[in-house]
Amino acid sequence: MTYFPLFHNVQQLKALLIGGGKVAKRRAKSLIAAGVNCDLVATVVSEELTLLVQSNGGTVTIGGYASDQVMLGYNLILALTNDRTINHQIATDAKAMGLLVNVVDVSDDGNIIFGAIIDRAPLTIAINNGGASPVLSSILRQQLEQFVPKAYGQLASLVGAYRPQVKDALPNTTDRSIFWHQVLQGPVAEAVFSGKHNEAESLLKKHLKELDSGLGNVKTNGEVYLIGAGPGDPDLLTLRAFRLLQKADVVLYDALVSDGVMALIPEGVERVYVGKRRANHSVPQAGINQLLVDYAKQGKRVARLKGGDPFIFGRGGEEIETLAEQHVPFQVVPGITAANGCSAYSGIPLTHRDYAQSVRFVTGQLRDGSVDLPWSELVVEGQTLVFYMGLKGLPLICETLINHGMDQHMPVALIEKGTTQDQRVLVSDLTGLPALIEAEQVMSPSLFLVGRVVSLHDKLAWFTSSRDV
Ligand code: SAH
Repeated sequence: MTYFPLFHNVQQLKALLIGGGKVAKRRAKSLIAAGVNCDLVATVVSEELTLLVQSNGGTVTIGGYASDQVMLGYNLILALTNDRTINHQIATDAKAMGLLVNVVDVSDDGNIIFGAIIDRAPLTIAINNGGASPVLSSILRQQLEQFVPKAYGQLASLVGAYRPQVKDALPNTTDRSIFWHQVLQGPVAEAVFSGKHNEAESLLKKHLKELDSGLGNVKTNGEVYLIGAGPGDPDLLTLRAFRLLQKADVVLYDALVSDGVMALIPEGVERVYVGKRRANHSVPQAGINQLLVDYAKQGKRVARLKGGDPFIFGRGGEEIETLAEQHVPFQVVPGITAANGCSAYSGIPLTHRDYAQSVRFVTGQLRDGSVDLPWSELVVEGQTLVFYMGLKGLPLICETLINHGMDQHMPVALIEKGTTQDQRVLVSDLTGLPALIEAEQVMSPSLFLVGRVVSLHDKLAWFTSSRDV
């Protein structure tokens, strides 16, 4: 390893930047932001850079690099001119004086390089590949950025403040390590990530109190993540959903959760199917609610995965009501609801300036063979209707909409298994659709869209599934 990553306290560092171009500006900005005192020498320098340096207490000298005398009193030198020979000379002189020096573009000339940084101060992650490819480091940084929650810095600050106390309470290093693992992977961390700082701190204090009162090891409290799994395509999961799935001990899922999403659950994690299909409930709702409580009370991290969004026709509210009553910590992670997923993947915008100014999500579920809905509110121009669970009742829905005055040629679409490789989009009008779905033997899950926006499908469809080819 030629370049060893060191984290340097830069608060009192004095840096001299030699050169006044674009890179100089970028470096000056980030060094000043980190607390470094920066001076600059350059033959030409923009007004913006001059102002930046001067307004932060630095000096700007116009002129070229003449001798190493200019480096006296500095700890860090940046050779940023566009002349390689001069940069090389600066590096040689700086190294001879035992200084830290970085050379633009030719990392080997200097003795330090700047890594790509993920800044969650006080937590920082720096990436370097010995100057081989800054672009590669930057690509890797972008990838990592997604998996390091923004609030990690706040978490670091919070636990940092309690380190001495924990050290006193738990002199044994193994005990301490177990304690911190529980805190950093449990409800304290999750409370920080979901913006509940006071709660995080009280939880941490509570754990500490338990240590002080000699309760020994902190008993891990379980928690529940109510997660929207989206309509099918696993790429539509949120980053938070993905992250929580990686740390769950048990996953309770239902029929709508796609195989692609299930494949993202790490091996060895317990999976419990609690799915329901119309009139064929494998675990009754009250049973699911209780199961979540029971698992959490055993100290488990429970992911409750539901198709689409948990709060849209998902009965997510009922599940967390029971958790709240039983004081089990939980959080809700939104998912892409079927309406959004199917709309995007069928090229049918739900609103459009010319066709629809509002959109309405409606349940089309039959109760005792009929659909009880405020029909007069549905038969309105300029509104898109999205029927969930409407496949069985579709002929009745079409007929009732026409009976309440909707244009019988209103364009409608049926999207089967939206966003997946098996997606099918059938477009027709209110009169024609019932026969079409019969002929095509459409299966569940399917979403039914009604409105003038459907006419845009021909022009805007972009997604092809294996059934379109
Ligand atoms: N919470 C879910 C909806 C559950 S109700 C969400 O937000 O999407 C179940 C209904 O959702 C199904 O009957 C169907 O109408 C619709 N649905 C769910 N996934 C779908 C998909 N991939 N394609 C089409 N419709 C879907």
